[in-house]
Amino acid sequence: MTDALAAEERRSLASPEAIQAPGRDRASVLRWVDRHLTGLMGDDAPASPRFRGGQSAADEALRGFDVAGYASRRNVVEPVDARGASGLSPWIRHGWLSLPRVWAAVEDGPPRDVAKFRSELLWQEYARHLYARIGTASARSMRFGVAERGPSRMGAQASSGMACVERLREELRRDGWIPNAARMWLASHWSVRGQGGWRDGEDRFFQQLLDGSRAANRLGWQWTVGAQTGRLYAFERGQVERQAPGWCEGCARARDCPIEGPPGAQAPVHASTPAPGLGRVAEANNGSGPEAVVDRGEPEAVWLTAESLGDADPALEAHPALPVVFVFDRARLARWKLSRKRLVFLVEGLAELAERRSLELYVGDPAAVLANRRLAATHAPVPGWRDASRRLSIAHEHPWPWLVAPHEGPIGSFSAWRKGITLPDAAGPQQALRF
Ligand SMILES: Cc1cc2nc3c(=O)[nH]c(=O)nc-3n(C[C@H](O)[C@H](O)[C@H](O)COP(=O)(O)OP(=O)(O)OC[C@H]3O[C@@H](n4cnc5c(N)ncnc54)[C@H](O)[C@@H]3O)c2cc1C
Repeated sequence: MTDALAAEERRSLASPEAIQAPGRDRASVLRWVDRHLTGLMGDDAPASPRFRGGQSAADEALRGFDVAGYASRRNVVEPVDARGASGLSPWIRHGWLSLPRVWAAVEDGPPRDVAKFRSELLWQEYARHLYARIGTASARSMRFGVAERGPSRMGAQASSGMACVERLREELRRDGWIPNAARMWLASHWSVRGQGGWRDGEDRFFQQLLDGSRAANRLGWQWTVGAQTGRLYAFERGQVERQAPGWCEGCARARDCPIEGPPGAQAPVHASTPAPGLGRVAEANNGSGPEAVVDRGEPEAVWLTAESLGDADPALEAHPALPVVFVFDRARLARWKLSRKRLVFLVEGLAELAERRSLELYVGDPAAVLANRRLAATHAPVPGWRDASRRLSIAHEHPWPWLVAPHEGPIGSFSAWRKGITLPDAAGPQQALRF
């Protein structure tokens, strides 16, 4: 290749042409993903048969969710149709459903169920506040020393034939979602019993979960392995018998069940250096972003990211006539190696948006692609957004739509954080502060 050609290729990689969004049907979306994101995916999984990306699927899921019975059935794993979990998390994750909207939507349900459900929404909000404040430090064990990297003794071979583990790993691979109890089981199996590094397990979840976020995923792993509280969550056969009745009877390992007794792991002890920022901080360092629109000039396009793709995204709503840009960050995707079904889920949502708005899609480096464009964007309280936005020209920066305002007080545990917040409205009877 001549020097001129190589330079041209580098230029087009750094600043590619806009790609037209596909049609909304699955076949078009799959073709688009395979053509434009090839080499950036961790697998060739089919689309999730259960979840479709986009605003209308999110609206329909929220309309169809009945909170009645949530408190007693949230932890049901089997039978599947008796599960109380809402399954709303993939749309919440990408902003097609905001936490304030979901909070309000359950208002008329039975008070006990509403209170329990809202307490889980608060866990999501807590994960976001924590991540906004400590950012990449959440990749280290927060308060108690637990191995972050290393192989698990409970990998595929050691768990072979275990109905509980194999079914849930398969559901995760197929649907890109499993309920909370199942996440705790798999995480505990990997790290507490198998002594595998929790970051390795977290990365695997992150690749597969349609709701995968560093904020909630890291908190979930840290909580399960005891890195946050010092208490381990132990996964044992009794839980499977109670929450997934019938699985053990048909299990090939029923007679030599590897999870018959407690895992025998030691509770972790205080880490020598807890993550910075868990105690009281100055207001400027709480990671909340602006409280009102920051106006630095006239924007010419709205920049959306995977943190906030919904029609109610504040920047999108405020600028109905501007074109919209979305950049698949090539370097990040190459590093993350997300499952194909995650990318299909995102592109489905973008394809729907393209029916209502003028949408330009790119694959490349956001700073290079969007250089010289004045953008309107919603502040996303994650380190990746902060890094990218520093290299861009953000003319209008809209506040993140928090459920509760971030505070400056201690945030090292859910209960410490909870003391500093003001609820949007009466949350019903106080629930036990369990994960
Ligand atoms: C190891 C592990 C990893 C996890 N990884 C993620 C992740 O990557 N992304 C993610 O959104 N959640 C994660 N969670 C939290 C929780 O499991 C999911 O939010 C929940 O299972 C989603 O299903 P749902 O929408 O049916 O939840 P529901 O029970 O219906 O709850 C409604 C909403 O509340 C929030 N919520 C519920 N439980 C939690 C919780 N424990 N922590 C934070 N938010 C919660 C979610 O936004 C959820 O959609 C993880 C939990 C564990 C133990």
